[in-house]
Formats: sequence, C-alpha cells, structure tokens
Amino acid sequence: MPPSSPTAWSAPAGPVNLPPAPLVGCRVCGVSPAAPITVRAHQGLLFMMRWQTLDGPFCAICGIALVRDMTTKTLWQGWWSPISLILAAPFTLVSNWIAYHKLSQLQPAAPVFPGQRQLIPGKPVLHRPMAYVALIPLIWATVVITRLIISGA
Ligand SMILES: [Zn+2]
Repeated sequence: MPPSSPTAWSAPAGPVNLPPAPLVGCRVCGVSPAAPITVRAHQGLLFMMRWQTLDGPFCAICGIALVRDMTTKTLWQGWWSPISLILAAPFTLVSNWIAYHKLSQLQPAAPVFPGQRQLIPGKPVLHRPMAYVALIPLIWATVVITRLIISGA
C-alpha cells in the first residue's frame, strides 16, 4: 500500500455538489438577484410627521424605481417640520442613497416570469422638477444659520 501523501486530503476531483444557495426573488416581480433593502419616504408638516417604508427584497429595476419615487417624494414633502428638516428628511435621503448603491451593485436580473411585471424606473431624481422643491427649505435654513452666525459675532 503506498504511503499517504498530503495531497490525498486535497479537494476531490470534479465539481463539488453543494446544494444551491436559496434564491430570493424581487418582492414586486419575482426575479433574481434581488437585494434585501428598505426604501423610505418621509413627510413632515409642522408638528406632524409620516413615514412610508417598503421592505424588499427588490431587483435593481423595481428597487431603483421605488428609490427614485420615494426620494423625490421626500425631497418635496419631507422638510416642513423642525425635526424633519434637521433629522428625518436627511436620514431618509441617506438611507435611500445606500439602498440605491446596493441595487446598482446587483448583477443583471433574469428575465421576468410570464404574467409578472417590473416597475418602470422613470427619470433620475435630479431630472424630476419636484425634487428641486427641497431647495426652498435648504436656502431658508442657510439664511437663518448665516444670520445667527453674523448676529452672534
Ligand atoms: Zn423586480
């Protein structure tokens, strides 16, 4: 009997038959790959605030459509209370930006199953006029902070 060598313990020849990783499809259209992300929108009006949260997984197409719609909604409705201006709207925008980054890293999705439909991504956020409503509270906040700094000096 030949002596055993360290190579006797190396990987077996041929493909290793591992069970396939469980596939998690998009919550909207069912295709893979999909990312387990959460998309958010925020509305603030004086002392009222409202959150909208959609949990994935979402494929890149459906997820980007949701991120674009809910980010645009936040950019024009998300600033109109003090806490919203300082905390909630910025948190929502950063959270959606992280979700967008994860979605853009996904591999191209498989074709959609018959009878299923994907969301339409639409225009990028900065090509949507309503997104620029956010400039009003941001300019106002800049003016207020500048006046406070000048008057305090
Ligand atoms: Zn999808």
